[in-house]
Amino acid sequence: MKNVLNQLIQLQELDFALAEGRASTTKMSLKQLEEATAQTLQHLPEEIATRYQRLRQRHPLAVVPLTHGTCPPCGIALPAALINAVRAAEQIQNCPHCGRFLYFPETMARQPRKAVDKDRPAAAGIARFSSPALMLPKLTGTTPESVIRELAELMAGKGFIEDANTVTELAMRREAIVSTAVEYGLAFPHVRNVEGGGLTFAVGLKEKGLPFGAPDERLTKIVFLIVIPTAASAFYLRLLAGLVKTFAETDARKALLECEKPEAMWKTLGKLTRLTIP
Ligand SMILES: [Zn+2]
Repeated sequence: MKNVLNQLIQLQELDFALAEGRASTTKMSLKQLEEATAQTLQHLPEEIATRYQRLRQRHPLAVVPLTHGTCPPCGIALPAALINAVRAAEQIQNCPHCGRFLYFPETMARQPRKAVDKDRPAAAGIARFSSPALMLPKLTGTTPESVIRELAELMAGKGFIEDANTVTELAMRREAIVSTAVEYGLAFPHVRNVEGGGLTFAVGLKEKGLPFGAPDERLTKIVFLIVIPTAASAFYLRLLAGLVKTFAETDARKALLECEKPEAMWKTLGKLTRLTIP
């Protein structure tokens, strides 16, 4: 059953990748993703595949990690026997309240409580999701993993996530399904189902660019590392669409890439996204 559960988690990631591809309105390899999704669905037992598809029509998240003995989206505390059954993973288990598939997470990224209220009093625009402290004008890494690690360490150092290693590992697992790099030299590595906190992103610049697996094979120059709590899953797609819309413009990319200090990046980013991320 562990295998079926892993396929379900993979299937959900593929479905999210598809939604991301559509939201970013770029020509990300949608066809390849659609094929992978169809194939994963075929490998699942029919009854489970049907249940998954039915759930997905109602909820963006159909497969969720057990968190503090609850099903996170509906917040219902689950009976001990069910928690043990989810942990044992001998059979597929569903939340008795909402019907979502439940799994026991091996590793889970967490945001410390203080990150929620710190630095963002009733903010608007990107100030709801980021901070001048999360701008990195000069990424030193030359691989996806090393730049994701740099941004995760920045987030952890400033108290926005608990552990850079977990976030790096989970973001790389997501990259392994399909690269989060899109056209225009942009990449959006991310970690979903983060426990607690709000949707938060850090931005790193690499003027020379680095290979990140973009569909047009161009180098990636602007990297957004995003942590997404379960509740913000759907909203993330709107943020992504807004960022892509902004940076599809050559002038916008140029203006951001010219910034040498975090403060300048923050100001430029705020100005550029005023209309796309209200
Ligand atoms: Zn539930």
